[in-house]
Amino acid sequence: MTWDKVTDRNILTLHPLIRSSAEDFVNECQREGMYVRIYQGYRPSNMQNIIYGEGRTKKELKEAGIDESYSRPNIPIKTKAKGGESYHNYNLAFDCVEIKRNMALWNNDNWNNIGRIGAENGFEWGGGWNFKDKPHFQKTFGYNCKQLLAMAKNQNWDYIKFPQKK
Ligand SMILES: [Zn+2]
Repeated sequence: MTWDKVTDRNILTLHPLIRSSAEDFVNECQREGMYVRIYQGYRPSNMQNIIYGEGRTKKELKEAGIDESYSRPNIPIKTKAKGGESYHNYNLAFDCVEIKRNMALWNNDNWNNIGRIGAENGFEWGGGWNFKDKPHFQKTFGYNCKQLLAMAKNQNWDYIKFPQKK
């Protein structure tokens, strides 16, 4: 349990193997005075394609093999990942933001602290990437999305079962 019902609900969409570390992350942020909300966990591939359409033209989507109706060229590009190319699609990523007086603090001096606490709980932070995605945290278990896609297909799209490391 965390301070926040929305967060608790979204943690339940994550892979069972990362739920407790996601909860620890939010609770440790709270102990440092930051009320962080996980506003998204699992995201279906189709929803990923809708986000991919942000900032892209119909032509670009057509070339990428994605439904052209998702094109929203007049807003900024938000992601490089198409459906199946995001850890969200495999329940292994979440997006979060600090909440203060009911406002989401997107431009936040605390981002580095939030990123550090995420890393302490074993998450890779999108704020450390070249194409920065500060709200984003993921646990990859050493697999890329192509490998995860193959595993998901083999495993009937249930939560991925990772092979035991030898
Ligand atoms: Zn994300």
